[in-house]
Amino acid sequence: MSQTLSRSLAPLVVSVAPGSPADDVGVLPGDEIVGVNGDMPRDIIEWQMATDEAEVELDVSRGGLDFAMSVDKPEGAPLGIEISSAVFDRVRTCDNHCEFCFIYQLPKGMRRSLYLKDDDYRLSFLYGNFTTLTRFTEADLERVVTERLSPLHVSIHSTDPDVRSEMLKNPRGAMSLRWLRALLDHDIVVKGQIVVCPGVNDGAILDDTMAGILDRYPELDSVAVVPLGISKFNREDAMRFHSLQEAQDVVDTIADWQDVFQAALGKRMVYAADEYYLMAERPFPDAERYDGFHMHEDGIGMARTFEAEFHGHTDSVTGVQRGFFASVDAPPNPAAYTGLHKCSSAHDIDAPVQQGVTLKPRRTASVGVLTGTLGAPVIRPLVESVGRADVRILAVENEFFGGNTGVTGLITGEDVTRVLADQPAGHRYLLPDVCLSDDGRFLDGVSIDELPRPVEVVATDGAALRAALEGSK
Ligand code: SF4
Repeated sequence: MSQTLSRSLAPLVVSVAPGSPADDVGVLPGDEIVGVNGDMPRDIIEWQMATDEAEVELDVSRGGLDFAMSVDKPEGAPLGIEISSAVFDRVRTCDNHCEFCFIYQLPKGMRRSLYLKDDDYRLSFLYGNFTTLTRFTEADLERVVTERLSPLHVSIHSTDPDVRSEMLKNPRGAMSLRWLRALLDHDIVVKGQIVVCPGVNDGAILDDTMAGILDRYPELDSVAVVPLGISKFNREDAMRFHSLQEAQDVVDTIADWQDVFQAALGKRMVYAADEYYLMAERPFPDAERYDGFHMHEDGIGMARTFEAEFHGHTDSVTGVQRGFFASVDAPPNPAAYTGLHKCSSAHDIDAPVQQGVTLKPRRTASVGVLTGTLGAPVIRPLVESVGRADVRILAVENEFFGGNTGVTGLITGEDVTRVLADQPAGHRYLLPDVCLSDDGRFLDGVSIDELPRPVEVVATDGAALRAALEGSK
């Protein structure tokens, strides 16, 4: 074997699909894979390429014994192994210290993985995490280009070098957008993000950033403009909520620049997060102004897609959507390599997902729909529009995180427990799956089995909500 990983980093087999090629040769859950074809993939991307071969030699460690297993299968056929992590060497952590970073605003005592500040282009590719590129290197560029790791997701925040380095609290922030230019030069699809902090990069600086994108990065696929999230644990005085006027100014700035981009490039390019329209007390833009909802996973146009799904105006839901920390906990499904799996940011409102699990269904007349305080104004008019007076929207105030954390993906078990404790027994309670991990736990570790009322977990899309409500007509 020419290269193996440190044993502590080698991936573990989590499960083996019955009847799969790996099952046929006797791979077992708990096995450590310390080599593939005489080498060790650094991550799930290389793993996928290595295991796509028709003949795969696995170096396995089991109970202190090391041995090899040979798998013969059709080229491109999956091995049938689920492994324990997506990155087998170390996740590249971020060297920035942004005042608006939500990770600094988490309470103590949550599970350790939630505190990981990653800035790894591989997680950007696999899960849609945003990278600032401050740790990106020439070797990374070569790999991205060679392996066509596209699309990537890049945090821009400002195109002014001084403003950007000040926001990232990192001198490298001033120059790292040169890598964005290089990625675009190599035809890598890049989606951008701007986190707007009022008084820091809004107003004239936001205008300047729009001009900078038009001038220097016009090949960007699209740019999401999202407000900073603030929890009650925020200790940075300069980080604060938007006022109504500031939110309206951002919405107006984006609308103006969409017209400029449309005229210059033939596409609107920049989109404000749904949260902005709620904060600005403005209606959401019409569906056609989202140009196909290609930034849906970043909190752009979710209200409109949810509405279309609820009313059956679309054939399919928009795509997989997970909660804020999903990339941390997401299983390293090789399907991610094909771009099928995305994670979300902190700014999503009741986002569509394709699959959900229905637990403990009840067929009683009254229904409570649990959602975040930002999801409630999206869902309430939909329910009213179909004349369901028996359905009430239960907006869950996020007291766990506090601040402006009204997105549904951040609601916690503690908060849902408080809301449900005041609700009558015998009613149906629908809970969107975006706030749960795969094993049915909220961010605070509370399990749905611990809630004071049984809940039905419903996929977080309009079609699933409609179907769940029709089940109780
Ligand atoms: S780059 Fe992201 S993870 Fe790093 S400090 Fe800034 S917000 Fe936090």
